[in-house]
Amino acid sequence: MRFSKIRLNGFKSFVDPTDLLIGDGLTGVVGPNGCGKSNLLEALRWVMGENRPTAMRGGGMEDVIFAGAATRPARNFAEVSIIIDNSERLAPANFNSEDQLEIVRRITRDAGSAYKTNGKDVRARDVQMLFADASTGAHSPALVRQGQISELINAKPKSRRRVLEEAAGISGLYQRRHEAELKLRGAETNLARIDDVLEQLA
Ligand code: ATP
Repeated sequence: MRFSKIRLNGFKSFVDPTDLLIGDGLTGVVGPNGCGKSNLLEALRWVMGENRPTAMRGGGMEDVIFAGAATRPARNFAEVSIIIDNSERLAPANFNSEDQLEIVRRITRDAGSAYKTNGKDVRARDVQMLFADASTGAHSPALVRQGQISELINAKPKSRRRVLEEAAGISGLYQRRHEAELKLRGAETNLARIDDVLEQLA
């Protein structure tokens, strides 16, 4: 499973549809100040399900939509797509039937975010789990933003452990455990209710 292309449309400074081919060996992006390097990395995190506006350097998620410039009006939506080459069939089971995967996230003003995988509507959670199971995602330590190395050096052991867990691809298990615990609690409540009813009937 390999990222082969990212497409941005109306995302931050990328107002016009822009394709970036991700060839073998691409490890970094360089360019003059303010040209959009960080925006590009944020687009990659965003399409993988980032849900904290602060991680996008914004106050609200709609701040990722092109806000207008002297010569261009603001846009009403932003969309980022990531194309994944899955010819080696390494994608997690639920998504492994196609040679190519396209994940799209779109945000529209006042309507929030919507996700699609290969044209089908999916939930944010499905996309987050897809990437978590593939040992990547919005919090992947493989995406290194400015200042992150010094943050890691100064981080508390608990935060460092989280980085190792992301890299080991086990962070999705925490989400699944949390959901299993919620279901278990629901089942326990139902059992207690049944006991009450049985007692009343006895
Ligand atoms: P540096 O090297 O200085 O860190 P950079 O190449 O990482 O710069 P970015 O931070 O990615 O640059 O891009 C900054 C540019 O993106 C600024 O010109 C800013 O005005 C523009 N920008 C950010 N959000 C939006 C938005 N919602 N609408 C329009 N432009 C935006």
